[in-house]
Amino acid sequence: MHRSLPAILLTALCLPAQEKARSSEEIFDRIRSEAYEGSELMARLQHLCDRIGPRLTGSEQLAAANLWTEAQFKSFGLRAWQEPWEIENGWRRLSAQARLVAPVERALTLAAGGWTPSTQGLLSAEVVDFTRPRRERDQREGSMVEGRILLTGRTPRVGRAVEDPFADCALRLLDSQKPHGLLNMTRLNSGTPYAMGSTPAAFLVSEDFKLIQRLLDADEQVLMEVEIANQFMPGPIEVHNTVADLEGSDLKEEIVFAGAHLDSWDLGSGTTDNGTGSMVVLEAARILASLDIKPRRTIRFILFSGEEQGLNGSKEYVKQHAAEMERHSAGLVMDIGTGSLWGLSLHNQTPFYALSEDWFRPVADLNFDATSMRRQGGTDHLSFQAASVPAFAFIQDPVEYGLTHHTQSDTYDKAVPENLMQAATVMATGLWAIANHAGELPRFDAKLEADLGGRD
Ligand SMILES: [Zn+2]
Repeated sequence: MHRSLPAILLTALCLPAQEKARSSEEIFDRIRSEAYEGSELMARLQHLCDRIGPRLTGSEQLAAANLWTEAQFKSFGLRAWQEPWEIENGWRRLSAQARLVAPVERALTLAAGGWTPSTQGLLSAEVVDFTRPRRERDQREGSMVEGRILLTGRTPRVGRAVEDPFADCALRLLDSQKPHGLLNMTRLNSGTPYAMGSTPAAFLVSEDFKLIQRLLDADEQVLMEVEIANQFMPGPIEVHNTVADLEGSDLKEEIVFAGAHLDSWDLGSGTTDNGTGSMVVLEAARILASLDIKPRRTIRFILFSGEEQGLNGSKEYVKQHAAEMERHSAGLVMDIGTGSLWGLSLHNQTPFYALSEDWFRPVADLNFDATSMRRQGGTDHLSFQAASVPAFAFIQDPVEYGLTHHTQSDTYDKAVPENLMQAATVMATGLWAIANHAGELPRFDAKLEADLGGRD
């Protein structure tokens, strides 16, 4: 049956406002103008970083950020809630001071590693270098450890004769491996991230670490004074992921999600890792809610906790929602700081190449044209891929991510507004396109990824 043009117009006018047919082009224009002209992203990022502050998993600050983000999602008219999970112990940094006493006097700069214990008051001890092959031989004999301060690598090298070669030492010192006095605090106890470690461990700025290595290489006796105070909050401690839904229409049982981790390390304020990603997710929610049209699939926004200690919040989410993973159709994760979004890392999921080209065509003019088959590790999409959900991380302009990442320099002043507005446009556009995709979406295929072999 052919309907006349006036009849079609009449039908359109009679539909409820929410369901009025609008061209996708008009919707993508509205997304873009809301992202650039109506942006609220920087104000929220500043509140998160400067007023709530750094957000260690298990801290009161992260709990405050969970509450605040839940309230923000609700203020956009979305359904929002918090999903609890547990960690063994919380941890808090108090103070850390160090001096080189011999062969020359000078102050040193260091920071305790996350979830490491305090020194027993002021520690005065000789320093030995366990990063050198010759010293490893000494380590196997077990003669040089007890009561000493050890320069070590991240992973203890276990010798033949000793189970934990560092168990009896007074303190482990690691190289921050960052330039220009930047500190670090990460990846010391990846297997048991929330356990109370028994050996104090701290990162020296790279300049100080190398100075001590040079002195030891010249066979000088090096003496240090160190005092580190940290606090454990014995658990179990309840932590949360913040979750919000923009409800879909005819396919509302299917979920397309955007994710970022809200937790951070605590030397800076967790701006580029990952206040930026979290606030882009929040801004995408605000933009899509402002359209006042229901997508076909439900769009879910997830702010994970515990990412920094091993993607733990997203692993918990996947575990708690195991029965619904089949209905999680796709996911987009942002976690590389303040750079604009360039593409997706598709982990060799070939069917998604053409799909993503279609979905992101409206933002191709924003330099979103570098989608590749490569892998991307290190963030929460991996937890979903393990459950066959096609979740992918954005490729981003790294800007200064390598410098700010996990350091005292990860602060609000590093955020670049134009890049984050671009990111919010791209994320909202992609979510909208995927949520309204006609037809079934392919699942994540581990066999395809395996075809990459060792290549990225
Ligand atoms: Zn991160």
